Amino acid sequence: MRGSTYPLIDADEAAAIVLEHTHVLGVERVHLADSTGRVLAEDLFADAPLPAFPSSAVDGYAVRAADAGKTLRVLGESAAGRPFDGDVAPGTAARILTGGAVPEGADCVVMVEDVQISGDNVTVPPSLRPGTNFHKVGDDLRAGDRILTAGTQLGAAEIGIAAATGRAQVPVRRRPRVALMSTGDELVEVGKTPGPGQITDSNRWALLAALRDAGAEVHLLGIAPDQPEPLRRLVLDALNDADALVTSGGVSVGTHDLVKPLLESLGTVHIGRVKLKPGKPFTFATLAGDRVAFGLPGFPVSSLVTFEVFVRPALRKMQGFARLQRPTLPVRLAYDARPTVERTEYQRVTLHREGQELVAETTGSQSSSRLMSLAGAHALVRIPAGDQGIKAGSVVEAMILSLP
Ligand code: AMP
Ligand code: MG
Repeated sequence: MRGSTYPLIDADEAAAIVLEHTHVLGVERVHLADSTGRVLAEDLFADAPLPAFPSSAVDGYAVRAADAGKTLRVLGESAAGRPFDGDVAPGTAARILTGGAVPEGADCVVMVEDVQISGDNVTVPPSLRPGTNFHKVGDDLRAGDRILTAGTQLGAAEIGIAAATGRAQVPVRRRPRVALMSTGDELVEVGKTPGPGQITDSNRWALLAALRDAGAEVHLLGIAPDQPEPLRRLVLDALNDADALVTSGGVSVGTHDLVKPLLESLGTVHIGRVKLKPGKPFTFATLAGDRVAFGLPGFPVSSLVTFEVFVRPALRKMQGFARLQRPTLPVRLAYDARPTVERTEYQRVTLHREGQELVAETTGSQSSSRLMSLAGAHALVRIPAGDQGIKAGSVVEAMILSLP
């Protein structure tokens, strides 16, 4: 019963140990088309101002403000992409369309709604202000401005900015390559009818989704039996090409729990037990070549909660994210949370708004085998260890999974 000798580590301390041993991955350049969700590896700066030329914000006439109230001769047109190649001299105007370059000489644009047109002439309002109705050079960005900061995740607006400043490719952190397997003699492949005493492997599909959601590329290894040699071979094959190994099951102290001894033989086990509920048997090891291994407990809720507490922040660190943790918010408990002595507990809740507050309602039985407690949950509320319990109406921190 080697497993029971691992010290019980405080949950926050364990999370810090994981991050301390997790390294940021290298940089690669990807085309904008493939950059959604990736994390920028370097700060980006604008090489040139935006807009690069004075650009009309409306359809109308480019004129001199000093010609207010006059009837002006229209010399030509400046459309988007087709500038007028002349000057707007006193007493003249150029028709201009949205996005068209404001010609030399003009210092304002009058909206088409505000003029009177007669043949080749246009009469402008009695009062005009220089600088109106067009975007000046550098209004949106000045040359040298920092446009995006390293550690930013690229979404629609960020990718748009990169494109607007002329970058087809951006430097991003490599995605973590993760080898994923389930362990347990009782497991059968999804879709097959379980025999006596068997259950369907659900963790692999749940963890595949969680890993992809966290930005990983996943190598699915299947189900390993509870036998040391096949388990070892499967892991060794997969490790050549992985930054991280994620297993589920086989980390508690039963005689068939083989993951801890295997990780000990391959590297260094830093965490073997955590003061966490669910997730006490969570195991973390480092392997040669900056690789990390996460031995998640077999119970479905335990595997996903330990994923959120330990694995997701580590994958975010590997990708260079500026923020490693999911956002947290204070929420008011709508139920009495019973105490867990000595272990931080993450309870699954749904959230709803009451006035200015978020109120947390339990998802029902918090059994670590009951995935229904996590399906549809908006948050994991953090119940500190203690022997008092926490009464309904108390405010606690919640790790937000999704907002209602
Ligand atoms: P273990 O951590 O291997 O002792 O497993 C704890 C519990 O989780 C047992 O009831 C297992 O049957 C269950 N379990 C382990 N692996 C999986 C899996 N991949 N999918 C669903 N349940 C699992
Ligand atoms: Mg097992």
